[in-house]
Formats: sequence, C-alpha cells, structure tokens
Amino acid sequence: MTNDIAPRSRQVRVLATLGPASNTPEMIATLFQAGADAFRVNMSHGDQQSKVAVIEAIRSLEKTFGRPTTILADLQGPKLRVGRFAGGRVMLETGSTFVLDRDKTPGDATRVELPHREIFEAIEPGARLLLDDGKLVLRVSDHGPDRIETLVEVGGALSDNKGLNVPDVVVPMAALTEKDRSDLAFAIDQGVDWIALSFVQRPEDLWEARKLIGGRAALLAKIEKPAAIERLEEIVESCDGVMVARGDLGVELPPQSVPPLQKRIVETARRQGRPVVVATQMLESMIKSPSPTRAEVSDVATAIYDGADAIMLSAESAAGDWPVESVAMMNAIGQEVEMDPAHGERVHFTIMRPDPTTADALSEAAKQIARTVSASAIVCFTTSGSTARRIARERPPVPILVLTPQLDTARRLGLLWGTHAVHTRDVESFEEMVAKSKRMALRTGIAKGGDRIIVVAGVPFRTPGSTNVLHVVSIIGDELKGYTE
Ligand code: PGA
Ligand code: MN
Repeated sequence: MTNDIAPRSRQVRVLATLGPASNTPEMIATLFQAGADAFRVNMSHGDQQSKVAVIEAIRSLEKTFGRPTTILADLQGPKLRVGRFAGGRVMLETGSTFVLDRDKTPGDATRVELPHREIFEAIEPGARLLLDDGKLVLRVSDHGPDRIETLVEVGGALSDNKGLNVPDVVVPMAALTEKDRSDLAFAIDQGVDWIALSFVQRPEDLWEARKLIGGRAALLAKIEKPAAIERLEEIVESCDGVMVARGDLGVELPPQSVPPLQKRIVETARRQGRPVVVATQMLESMIKSPSPTRAEVSDVATAIYDGADAIMLSAESAAGDWPVESVAMMNAIGQEVEMDPAHGERVHFTIMRPDPTTADALSEAAKQIARTVSASAIVCFTTSGSTARRIARERPPVPILVLTPQLDTARRLGLLWGTHAVHTRDVESFEEMVAKSKRMALRTGIAKGGDRIIVVAGVPFRTPGSTNVLHVVSIIGDELKGYTE
C-alpha cells in the first residue's frame, strides 16, 4: 500500500466544504492531499442528485489513499426568508414603518410577505427582525395574527427572498423542515458519517433527527442561535458533536460577543468529550486572494489554541478562487501552531474531570504515561469509538492511533482531534493486541524501532464498553521485519 497517506503531522482536523469550486473527483483528491481530513456537503445549495457523484468521489479516496474518509451532510434547517417584491428590490428608509404580513402579493417599500406563520405567534413588541445577514434592522412596534408592524431602525436595500433572523424570541419552528427530512433521508441513504442540524434552539430539536438517523450517522448541532447558548450544556449532551457556526451566530448576536462564545462552546464540548468545529470566515479573503490576511491566520491559530477539534472552510473551498491554497494554509497554520512549545500548555487550560469510569481513568493515565516515558503514540482499540473520544478529550501530547473493526466508526473519527483511524480486523488475544499495535504503529510511521507506545484496549476482546487494559509496549529495533497483516 505505497499510496497510503501518512497520518497528518498535526492534531487539529481540517473540514473543507465542497461546492462548485471543488466538486470534481480531481479537486476532491487534491484537497485531501493538501490536508482536508473531512468534507462538508452543504444541502442548502444544489439538488440531491448532484451530491451523489461528490459523495462517491470522496469515498473513492479510501481505495486510493488507504484510509477512511469523513463526510458531513449539513442540513439547511429552518432558515427564515421574506417573500418577493414587485420590482425585485426596494429601499427601506431608516425611521419609516414597514409591515410583514401573510399576503402573497409582491411587496413594496411599505410591506412584504413573511411566509412563516410561527413568527406571527411568537413575536413580541420590542423584538428585532434582522434582514440580509443583519444589514437591516427592524423593531417590532405592534403585531397581530397575520401582521407585524415594525419601525425601520437601520434601513437599506432589500431584495427578494432575503434571509431573516429573529434573535430575541424562540420561534417554535420545527427543527427539521420538509426539505431537511428529504435531505436527511437522502444523506443516510448515501451513507454519510455525520448529519449537521442548523439553527438548533433546544435539545428537543435534536430528538427527531436522532430518531430518523437511527444510529446510522453521528449528529452534529450547529450553535448559531442565542437560544441555543442558554441551553448549551444540554444541547451538547444531546448530540455527538457541535459547530461554532459563527456566521449566523454573529448576525443574531453582536459580532463582538462571538469570540467569548467560541471559547465557551469549545470548552463545553471538550469537557463533554464531543468534537467541536470552529466555522465560518476563517480565511474569508482567500475566496478572492491566494493569501490570507494576518488577522485571519491569527483567527485560525486562536481556534487551535482554544483546543478545537476541527477548523472549517466554507466558501473558501466551496466557491472561491483558491480552494487548494485555503486547505494548504489551514494545514500549515495547524502544523506551525502545534510546533509552538506553548501550544500543549495552552490547550490544557480546560481542566478535565474524569467521569468515574475505567475508560476515563485509563484515558487520563495514558496521557500522563505518554508524557512521563516520552511515548510516541497512544494506540487505542475501539468498536464504537467511545474510548478514542475519551482519550482525545484528554488532548494527549502524542498521536492517537485508533484501530477499529467498524468502518463507520473509523470514518466518524475524522472530525476528532489527534486521531488517525485504521479500519482493521479485531484481535483475539493479548499477544495479538501487542503485536498488532507495534505493527500498525510502525506501518503508519507513527512510531519507529526503539520507541514506546501506550496501548489501551478492553478484555475480553470484541466486547464493547470493556476498556480496562493499559499496556506500555517497547518496540525493539527491527521488530517489524517479516510482518504482513
Ligand atoms: P452555514 O452555517 O454556513 O450553513 O450558514 C455556518 C454558520 O452559520 O456559521
Ligand atoms: Mn448558519
């Protein structure tokens, strides 16, 4: 398997959104080689049929490069939009009155249709309506069952179907629209690894998706609503991973409140052992330019110092002029930051309190021992991936080599900090466990002769949830010779 891509020489993962700039098999392979660990397929754009070939192209990398791939399907969620205007576009004057109603007649500078019944029920006087990514601000002065009267606080141009954010009230919208249900069924059918849910407001929002997914994919909650912040702990607990969705979060809340929230969301997710993605505008100027601003580089670095599991590219890789350069830049920033001797210490600002479980005790011990004996890797045998998540949660100073007989587990781990997953047969005995750990550590290049590795596994073998073994293994000089899998 000379083609095998070596494990990444960084622990933070790179999640690249695919789109018109990167949808071809050649580009997907190039992005993978440049450092993309996982791919986001955005269900907000394009039709389902166009995604089939994209998903197939991602999966075909597994044969070419001999390692699992990770696909996240991002559902659009209940994105709110206004209706249409007679001339396609109007100018709202600051200080004027503007009405949103249920009348489908094309709008003008005094009114427009708002095709979301739920808002009329939930809205309150004094609440803000933000239009077009927050560029226009309306303040509710009065409302009835099919009419919301507002004062235009910040005016500007408004055109057909522009997005609407309602940050001040919880709108009791179903978390999954008809389109989302259809997209979810499609994505599951295509065998994606993660489903992302947009505009999650309450933990209950995740339940239905969970039921529909039925264990066939992991569930990621996008944190982009103020209401979600209020119930953050519960939401994180109810999902398998989270995204700091800074785009919409920074519209619903003042942009200056996003950095502290980023830190809080990352920390909450890390404490609970859920992978966390920091997303949106990370290298925004690279949509048009081959090099980023210093501020953007600093922003990516900050997310890595915060200990995020993954950093995401949106339009930079999906619709920009420099998708490969954007991935390469994230890869380079990851490598550089993690070479900083202070990185390890900074990442440990989050104090982990182990749950009173054997898995957590061993995960914590594995990190300590790896440090004390300068081991070169932690090798983890897992079926569900749960042990890998608990070890990654400790943010050990060495790579985590995950050996799993479950291909779906190996694929899902592509969003998890510091892990390199290998899909391989289970072991039957302690001797086999030791031999296989050495062999795989050597083969992947994670360790070499003379190194020590820490092995974490469960006996009896093949029993999920049995993690109870921690073994320090020394790899003697030429041990690899003669081994084949
Ligand atoms: P989006 O989500 O790109 O699907 O809008 C991310 C965000 O809002 O930051
Ligand atoms: Mn969003």
